[in-house]
Order: sequence, then C-alpha cells, then structure tokens
Amino acid sequence: MGISVPAAAAAPLPRTNHLFAGAQFAFIASILMLGLYIGLTSTWTLLEPDFLIGLSLTAAATSLLFAVPPSGALRGLLVLVPTIDILAVGFFRDTLPNLPTSGLLIVIPVLWLAGGFGVSALPVPVFGAIFVSLIPVARAGAWPTTPGGWGAICILPALVLIMTVTVHLAARQLRAHEGRARIALAAATEAAAIATTVSESVDAAVAFFRPDGTAALRNEATYEQARLAGFDPKTRAGVHVYGPDRKTRLPPEKQVINRALRGESFRGDLYWVGQPGDQRAIIGNARQVHTDEGTFVGTITVGHDVTDLADAVALREAFLIDVSHELRTPLTSIIGYLDLLTEGHDLQQLGLEREVSTIQRNAEQLYAIIGDLLAAGDAEMRVRIALTDVADIARESAAAILPQASEAGVTVRAEVPPHVELEGDGGRLRQVLDNLLSNAVKYTPRGGRVVVTVGVDGTTCTVTIADTGIGISPDDQRQLFDRFFRAREVRDDARPGVGLGLSIVKSITEAHHGWITVSSRPGRGSTFTVTLPLRQPRAGAPSAS
Ligand code: ADP
Repeated sequence: MGISVPAAAAAPLPRTNHLFAGAQFAFIASILMLGLYIGLTSTWTLLEPDFLIGLSLTAAATSLLFAVPPSGALRGLLVLVPTIDILAVGFFRDTLPNLPTSGLLIVIPVLWLAGGFGVSALPVPVFGAIFVSLIPVARAGAWPTTPGGWGAICILPALVLIMTVTVHLAARQLRAHEGRARIALAAATEAAAIATTVSESVDAAVAFFRPDGTAALRNEATYEQARLAGFDPKTRAGVHVYGPDRKTRLPPEKQVINRALRGESFRGDLYWVGQPGDQRAIIGNARQVHTDEGTFVGTITVGHDVTDLADAVALREAFLIDVSHELRTPLTSIIGYLDLLTEGHDLQQLGLEREVSTIQRNAEQLYAIIGDLLAAGDAEMRVRIALTDVADIARESAAAILPQASEAGVTVRAEVPPHVELEGDGGRLRQVLDNLLSNAVKYTPRGGRVVVTVGVDGTTCTVTIADTGIGISPDDQRQLFDRFFRAREVRDDARPGVGLGLSIVKSITEAHHGWITVSSRPGRGSTFTVTLPLRQPRAGAPSAS
C-alpha cells in the first residue's frame, strides 16, 4: 500500500524571523567587540560621525527586523535588514582605516542574504561590497593611481561575489535535503499512525519489537492477554502459558515472544493462556520485518484468541467419542454373535455363507472405523514399549495388504533386512504400517507399484512407503496429518475413508519420539518416511524432541 504525503510536507522551508534575529544578534555582538577595541585604543573614534552613522544604521536595521511581521505581505522588506547592515559596515570600515579587518563584518549580512533569501537578493551583497569599497574613494575624491589601490577596491566585491554564490548553492542544497527529510518524516508519521490505528482496530494482540527487543508498539489486546498469562517483562514470558493439552506449562524459551526475538518465524501455533478454569486459546504467529533493501527492522507477533473455535472443536471431539463408545458396545455384540453363528452352524448348508460373510466384513470395517474415531479422539496416544522387530512387522503388513493390492492391480514389494530391532509398541507400529500401506494401495491406480523399505541409520530406524500413485499437492501436504482431512479429488472420487488414518499414524510415531514426513508430486506418487529412535528415552531423561 502506498502512503500519500500531505501537500504541506513538500512546501519549501519557512524562513523564520527567529533565525534572522539570531543573525542580527551575531552582527550586533561583533560591532560591540569592535566598539570595545576602539574604546580601548582610541576612545575619541567612537564619537566620529562615520562610526555614529554605522551605529544608527545598525539600530535602524534591528528595529526594522522587529517591526516587520513574521508572515504577511511585508515580509519581503526583511531583505533590507542585511542590506542596511552592509551599508553600516561601510561606515565602520571607513572610521578605522588602520583596521582593514573591520570590513570582515560584512560576512554576516552577506551570508544572510545569500542563504536566507531567493536568487533575486543575490546582487544586493555584491553591490553592498562595491559600495563599502567605494566610500574611501568618494572621501578622497579621486580614483586610486596604484595597482595596490585598485586591488583594495576590487578584492572585497570579488570575495563577496564568490562567497554569495557558494553560500546560495549550499543553502539551496540544504533546503532540498531538508525538504526530502520532511517528506520522509511525514510519510513515517503517517505510516506509524496507520499502523497504530490498524493494530487497535483488530481483535488480535499485535506487538512490534525493535531489534534490541524493546516493544515499539502494543495494542490493547496484548495487555489483556499479558494479564491472563501472568506476563513477566523480565523473562518476556507468562507464568500461566500452556501447550495445546492445556496442562503442560510452556517454559519461557518456548513462548511466543522469546521464540520470535530469537529470530523464529512461525504461524498457527496453538497455546493456552490463563489459570485452569479461566483459559483462552491463542494462535500465535511471528515474523521478522525487513525493509525493501533487506535491513532487519524488528519482529512482529500476533496472538489470535480462538477460544470459541477451540471449544467448538473440543465439543465435536467429545461428541464423537461418546457416539463411538455408544456404537461400539452393540457392534461388539453383533460381531460376537456373528462369530457364534459361523462357528456353531454350517452356513454353506444353510445357504447363508455369502450373506453372513458380507455382514461380518462390513461389521468389522465399521468396528475399525469406530476404533479410529476413538483413537483420534484420545488426547494422549498410549504406547506399551517392548523390544520389537520392525522388519517383521513390515513384512507381515506387506503380506496382509496383498489381497487388496492384487484386487486393485497394484504390486507391493518389501525391501526389508532380516531383522531391525527397536524399542516400540509392536501393535501400534503395525497400525502405522497398515495405514500407510493401505493408503498407498488405495491411492495408486491400476498398474502402479508400492515399495516398503526398512533401514537403520545410526541411532534411528527409517521406514519408507513409496507409491507411484495420484500424489498430493503442496497445499494438501500441509494439512495431510490433520484429523478428517481428505484431498478434494479423493472425496470427489468417492474413495472410502474418513481422513483419520494419517493423524493416528502421526500420533503413534510421535508417541515413540519419532517423526513422519512426506514428499510427493501430483500424478507421480508419494513417499511417506517414518523415522523412529532405536531406543526410547528413559523416564526422567531429557527428550531430544
Ligand atoms: P483416508 O485415507 O481415510 O481418507 P488418511 O488420514 O489416511 O485418511 O489420509 C488423508 C488423506 O491424505 C487422504 O484422503 C488422501 O487425500 C491423502 N493421502 C494419504 N495417503 C496418500 C497417498 N499415498 N497418496 C495420495 N494421497 C494420499
């Protein structure tokens, strides 16, 4: 967004009487010093008519300065003040032929005329200098006859001419600089006003920190969130700041401001502030601010209060868990009775084998979905750690998916070493592989390939499931592990699924202190990589994650 500059900012600098009064004061002070010198050396000179004329002219110029109003049509008359001063210098110099340096007094009005007025005033100092130089000639009634005499007449006007032009150009440049500085200042003031108004108009808590960590801007909402969090300016952190589970206190170094000031940029981090019972859900964002030239100017943090949304999500999850529990009990009973039916009767003879096996398959599928819903709704994924062979699990999982894969026309290959032992929950890890392999087969068109590999790299084990399937767009990859997320094309194709598998896979992996990544190109296939530590951290030992 461009920032408009007020017209006043582009106007030339006003030349204040204040400034002119300063110049005249300097002139008077110089004359007083001259007067003191004369008083000490030849007191009578002070009463000479030329000296008194000089003094009268100075007094007249000073009165004019104070008589002319600082603004208005008469302002132009001010040019007379330094002009009269120049005439006064002529008389002072004439009084003191033994003190030619007294002519230097002309410097003050000359600088003033050259720097304080427009181009039209420039001839005035030069003519003034000629006048000052000619007074002795007029008194003598004859032009000089020696080159030295001519030099004495010409040197002052020549010096004044050079000085006038130089000072005028320098003053013009200075004014141009000042004009630009005023424009920049006006733009900065306007930008600051816009930033403040914008930050006060949003509900989110917005703060801006300079590179040295001091806060340059904080809106009202930041004070409210800081109050709830029990913010301590010394640690730049709150005492009542908790992670997404609402229970785990976040240490100061993991809180938004400290992370942001360390140079981290992030978006969408959920945390809770406030004492239990009075907590608000906040989504924290932070980013570094740079100028167009790339200079770092500070850090901005934004905290959105999303408590209503978080409450709605919590309600949805509680509802899902309740409904899943309610459905599981009768479904367990149906599956139990179906088992009794198949074990206790010859269904083939009864002509019911196909129907009962269809009921059984669908009931088991429903049971698996309910299991997923319950697992996804469980805030904490529980794992039972024991020595487990992941290579075996991968082989078994790949074998189990074969019927489904051959029906879909997809080949599945396991490139797995004989044994890879790690500390983990065998049942849960099987769930991870089953989910990833079933996705790989489900989202790979006929004729495609799926390869599962297991490898060891130092202290970690890596399991990859690569397919040549439909792939996942970069946008979808960002939401892939969110509960209930399904890509649009998958929903449009009506492929079965509820979008919980990957979120469960992620929870299980993280419960093992591991992590999962995906690389994929739409239309070319996807590779999911699960990295697990071979040894789980002992209770009380610092965790790597
Ligand atoms: P579901 O498979 O039940 O929809 P998941 O959580 O397992 O749920 O997967 C979520 C979404 O991720 C899927 O709907 C699909 O859009 C995408 N996805 C997962 N695995 C793959 C894959 N191997 N290839 C392409 N898309 C995938």
